[in-house]
Amino acid sequence: MRDKDLYAQILGITPPWSVRDVELNLKASEVVVHLALAPSHTLDCPTCGNSAPGYDTRKRRWRHLDTCEFRTVIVADVPRVNCEEHGVHQIKVPWSEPNSGFTARFEALAIDWMKEASLSAVCRLLKISWDSAAGIQERAVQRGLERRKELSPKRLGIDETSFQKRHEYVTIVSEQETGRVLHVADNRRRESLDGFYAGLSASQREGIESVSMDMWAAYIGSTLQHVPDAERKIAFDKFHVAKHLGEAVDKVRRQEHKVLQEEGRADLKGTRYLWLRNPENMSPQRWADLKALRDSALKTAVAWSVKELAMTLWRYKTRSWARKAWEQCLYWAKETGLKPVIDVASMLERHLEGILNAIVLRATNGMAEGINSRIQWIKKMACGFRNRDRFRMAIYFHLGGLDLYPAAGRRS
Ligand SMILES: [Zn+2]
Repeated sequence: MRDKDLYAQILGITPPWSVRDVELNLKASEVVVHLALAPSHTLDCPTCGNSAPGYDTRKRRWRHLDTCEFRTVIVADVPRVNCEEHGVHQIKVPWSEPNSGFTARFEALAIDWMKEASLSAVCRLLKISWDSAAGIQERAVQRGLERRKELSPKRLGIDETSFQKRHEYVTIVSEQETGRVLHVADNRRRESLDGFYAGLSASQREGIESVSMDMWAAYIGSTLQHVPDAERKIAFDKFHVAKHLGEAVDKVRRQEHKVLQEEGRADLKGTRYLWLRNPENMSPQRWADLKALRDSALKTAVAWSVKELAMTLWRYKTRSWARKAWEQCLYWAKETGLKPVIDVASMLERHLEGILNAIVLRATNGMAEGINSRIQWIKKMACGFRNRDRFRMAIYFHLGGLDLYPAAGRRS
């Protein structure tokens, strides 16, 4: 087989394109494959698909998958057409997406690697620049977002996650059933969420059944404004309630530990994580360690038991029974006389309707917890992001559930 035929087959080049020449540059470890278009071929406008007169040609290069460790490059003079309606544009080529310096199959390989490894590792492996890799990822996300079928979000979870420095956040909207991230926005302000709702039609917003979130005024305000009947759909889920109560337990522990230390007692030394852990995931040894503490008269034990009681109040079927149980629990919380516990109890009381919504709607943010830990993994792999756009891109890339591959590079 002649090398031209071999490369035509390897590259999947079919008429009207053909391999004109194959150039092997041993010094540069490079194979350059020159392609040519049949001169008689009629040209089409890439926008409307109608035939259009040729305008000129431009020499273009695309990096392709290596052949036996040889960097392989495709070179072709690509015609531009002058469409009456759309003006001068380069015609589409079957091996690459517009505006890419890589063939579609190369991009597909890079996308496969990016799913498993950090961008810098992909750059090393494929010998491409960081900007090229970021460009491939960005195009993949753009394609995926354009292809995403019209959303019909029903059960949403809204959360914030930190970006690089402390007190810098992004807002993440995810779908409870699938765990896909639907929207990533800067900050955790009202506008952050407004942008997501603004992208939905009236009937899409109507179709939303529940919105799980933290008791955060900005998210509440935006949801009340955009989602019909939101008073019955905003849900303050178990995960977020647990977080606030856990913080209250920790505050009580720190205060009490300080007082005990002054008396020369070390009852609470090294117990921080013991109190914060979910008893359901505790080893028998840990549970035994905790048992003595929790049976003690320590204030921390009292705060902890409020939290644990609250954690049992999520399985009610009716709103009225759930309400009774929560009112009792919050009453008891206030009777403890512990300020951090009372503060959280007051906040929960003000947001009780949303807690009851979460219970009767079975709205959870368990998925959001998983998403958050995967976002931390993405951050770790990237060793920080230069800017929020890159961070947002990476979240969509890994967690958006998107169809990322270029059409020509898709595996059959
Ligand atoms: Zn046109």
